[in-house]
Amino acid sequence: MPEGHTLHRAARDHSPMLVGQQLQVSSPQGRFAAGAAQLDGHQCTAVEAYGKHLVYRFANHQALHIHLGLFGRFRTAKLFSKLSPKLPVKEPRGAVRVRMISTTHVVDINGPNTCEVLDPPQLAALIARIGPDVLRSDAEPDLAWTRISKSRVAIGQLLMDQAVVAGIGNIYRSEILWRQKVHPKTPGNQITRALFDQLWNDAVLLLEIGVKNNAIITVDGVKKSRSKYGERVNIFGKLVCPACATNIETFDLATRRVFVCATCQPPPA
Ligand SMILES: [Zn+2]
Repeated sequence: MPEGHTLHRAARDHSPMLVGQQLQVSSPQGRFAAGAAQLDGHQCTAVEAYGKHLVYRFANHQALHIHLGLFGRFRTAKLFSKLSPKLPVKEPRGAVRVRMISTTHVVDINGPNTCEVLDPPQLAALIARIGPDVLRSDAEPDLAWTRISKSRVAIGQLLMDQAVVAGIGNIYRSEILWRQKVHPKTPGNQITRALFDQLWNDAVLLLEIGVKNNAIITVDGVKKSRSKYGERVNIFGKLVCPACATNIETFDLATRRVFVCATCQPPPA
């Protein structure tokens, strides 16, 4: 399941390919033919991520809402290069739900969990359901703090609840809690404001690194190019704690596996 950095990276990558242009929008696979017809020929005005949701806004005030889910993926290609002024549009690969073509690029989306056209009230309702997004400059962390500080639910579960805080997925959850020495089972109402601020700030720091590198990197000072995935995280998928060599425990929390060092992250009383 992609975490928030994947969607913000896609928004950053797709914006210069599509924004300001009238797009040809189609559904090569056919399942989104009616939706594509509502957007076809209209100008794309913005591409934005809200947590794990991607929104392409159009000048006719309709928006394409994408949630990749477990199997969705993006594929982009250029329509020209310095060597060949006009490349042929590539044949769709696999079941392309929606294809958007500008004068310069083609963006294909395969297998999304959600692919729908939203009108302005529907889009506003979607955004209202999504908690403050650690990667958005307009996020209000106080909204997340209010929910967490009043909840007896485990912090490891609250951090995955996209209505509480948006963008953090399974890997970042384990990594952030380990870095801040918080046990995932600690109830939200036992988290102090200072500790919440640490968790929020670390999430912002790590997900921004994720957007920049298009990869999850939670070990300080490690670069993507020189290391494999396993060297870029501290605890997720590991057997022993890199800080104290205690055996890592794992258990399911919010239906996904969490990793914890009970020495560095003492369990709640
Ligand atoms: Zn440890």
